Amino acid sequence: MKELLAITEALRLWGIFAVVLVIAGIGLTVYQWRQRRAAGWGQSLRVRDQDADRSQRGGGTVLYDPTRRIFGKPDYISEERRGGRLQLVAIEAKPTRRSKTLREGDEMQALIYLLLLRATWPQQAADVARVTYAPGFGPFEVKATPEALSRLDQHLTQMRLSKTSRAVARSHNQAARCNACSMASSCGLQRLTFPNKKG
Ligand code: SF4
Repeated sequence: MKELLAITEALRLWGIFAVVLVIAGIGLTVYQWRQRRAAGWGQSLRVRDQDADRSQRGGGTVLYDPTRRIFGKPDYISEERRGGRLQLVAIEAKPTRRSKTLREGDEMQALIYLLLLRATWPQQAADVARVTYAPGFGPFEVKATPEALSRLDQHLTQMRLSKTSRAVARSHNQAARCNACSMASSCGLQRLTFPNKKG
C-alpha cells in the first residue's frame, strides 16, 4: 500500500512538473512572438545571422561591398518570403530608440547593410533593409533610391576625407556611444566617459 502511495505521489509530482514545463514553453513562445512582432519581424522565417544578440564584439559575419569599399555586420539578417520567393533582409535594431521618424544615421547604416547583402548574395538580397526601434516606433524600410545613394556617397566621401585629417571633431555628446565604440581605445581626447567627461 505504501509503495502504491509513493508511486501515486511521484506521478503527481511529475504531472505538475510537466504542466509547469508546458506553461513555461507556451509563455516563452508567446513572448518571443511578441518581441519579433514588436521589432517588425512578422514575416521573418528564420534569422540567418546575427551580430546584435552576441554579447562580445566579433559575432556575426563581416560583409564587404567592393563597389563602395565598405564593410559591415548587420545586426540581423532574416530570411523572409517576399514577392513569392525567399529573400534576405538586413535589420538594424535600435530597441531603445523612441522616434516616430527614421534618423538619417540609421537610414544610412541600413542602406549600407542593404548594399552589403546585395554584394554578398546578389540573388537572394531583398531590395529593402529594415530599421527597428522600440515597440510602437517604426519599423522603417530603407530602399536604395538614387537620392538615398547620393546622400550615402556624400557621407562616405566626408568620412574618407576625415580619415586623412589630423583632427576630427566628435559629432555627438553621448558618453554611452563612446563607451560602446570599437574605436574608443584609439580615440584620444575626443572620447567621452561617464559622467560625460572627456577621458
Ligand atoms: S570613442 Fe571616439 S570615435 Fe568612438 S564614438 Fe566616441 S568620439 Fe567617436
